[in-house]
Amino acid sequence: MFRYFVLLCIGASLSAAVFGLEFKGQWQQGAVLLGRVPTGTQVEFMDRSVRVTEDGQFVIGLGRDAKPQAIVATIDASGKRQEHTFDVAARDYNIQRVTGVPQRTVTPSPEQIERSRREAKMAADARKVDLPLRNFAQEFEWPLVGRITGVYGSQRFYNGEPNSPHYGIDIAAPTGTAVRAPAGGVVTLVHPDMFFSGGTLIVDHGHGLSSTFIHLHKILVEEGDHIEQGQVIAQVGASGRATGPHLDWRMNWFGERVDPSLMVGPMPEQKPAASKE
Ligand SMILES: [Zn+2]
Repeated sequence: MFRYFVLLCIGASLSAAVFGLEFKGQWQQGAVLLGRVPTGTQVEFMDRSVRVTEDGQFVIGLGRDAKPQAIVATIDASGKRQEHTFDVAARDYNIQRVTGVPQRTVTPSPEQIERSRREAKMAADARKVDLPLRNFAQEFEWPLVGRITGVYGSQRFYNGEPNSPHYGIDIAAPTGTAVRAPAGGVVTLVHPDMFFSGGTLIVDHGHGLSSTFIHLHKILVEEGDHIEQGQVIAQVGASGRATGPHLDWRMNWFGERVDPSLMVGPMPEQKPAASKE
């Protein structure tokens, strides 16, 4: 078993190196990996043909519970297909108990469940787009500076009842605090008040990588808008299922939920009274 494992690893890194397949980022659950291949090479990952830029750049994302090995296939200009195996490190996720959530959002009625399903589909559809934007390769920046109160992946209990994991990073800030685009992109969804997520905004960074901002007080952009990194796009709020004002920033690679905190460095020091605009 162990020998097989080692052989597989050596095989993968050798073939990847010979081939010129390179990745920036760590192979771990929730990670976003920036890849590069020689010009004209096609890439496949998770049964999907991955969009590659003219100069060979692409991006892939690993979900919260990604399997221990990931296989990336490359097809060179002559049509030769090769599979490259990468080991994916498992992560430990914590348990978070949240109390004081509006009970209607913990035990929703059948109508509310139906509504939330429709809204979830709108968000899922927005995350399906595969735009030829290059913002996915930018150095991402925090959308605001503040205290982190929730992290990616935690198993959550709302008012004592087990719920789905938390996929965002929560940053506490007063209502009205400016939310800045962590990278440039195109706005693919604006919704003023979804049942669970309240004011909801999705920005696509290209090649399936998107940011979702929820519980917003106000959204300052419209669907179809092209936005720049650092642009003020929304205001922090407490709409939807929230116990107080904060920004919940989520990221996706298509349907895979990835960890935004792996895209940015440590949270900068908070400057007193500098966060409100
Ligand atoms: Zn949250």
